[in-house]
Amino acid sequence: MSKRWQLRTTIRAREVYVIRQLNRPAQTLCSQCDERVVMLSLYEAVKLSRLSSRTIHHWIDENSVHFTETADGLPQICPSALLARLAKECDR
Ligand SMILES: [Zn+2]
Repeated sequence: MSKRWQLRTTIRAREVYVIRQLNRPAQTLCSQCDERVVMLSLYEAVKLSRLSSRTIHHWIDENSVHFTETADGLPQICPSALLARLAKECDR
């Protein structure tokens, strides 16, 4: 008789952030996952994830989150990819 182990990860959201700004498109198409999302500024990604900007820059450098750059060279981060990357970090 063999035993099977199953690991289940459950994530519960305790806070919901709604990001809206005037003069900002509501949603854009992420070119990497083809989802309609509101791309996050680095500041917003730091606030939402509670990670350091250094960690997020590192994830951008290793292409483990989807991102684009503004005309000024500022990163815009896909929230879906950021969440997936965060979940992967929690599984470690
Ligand atoms: Zn994406």
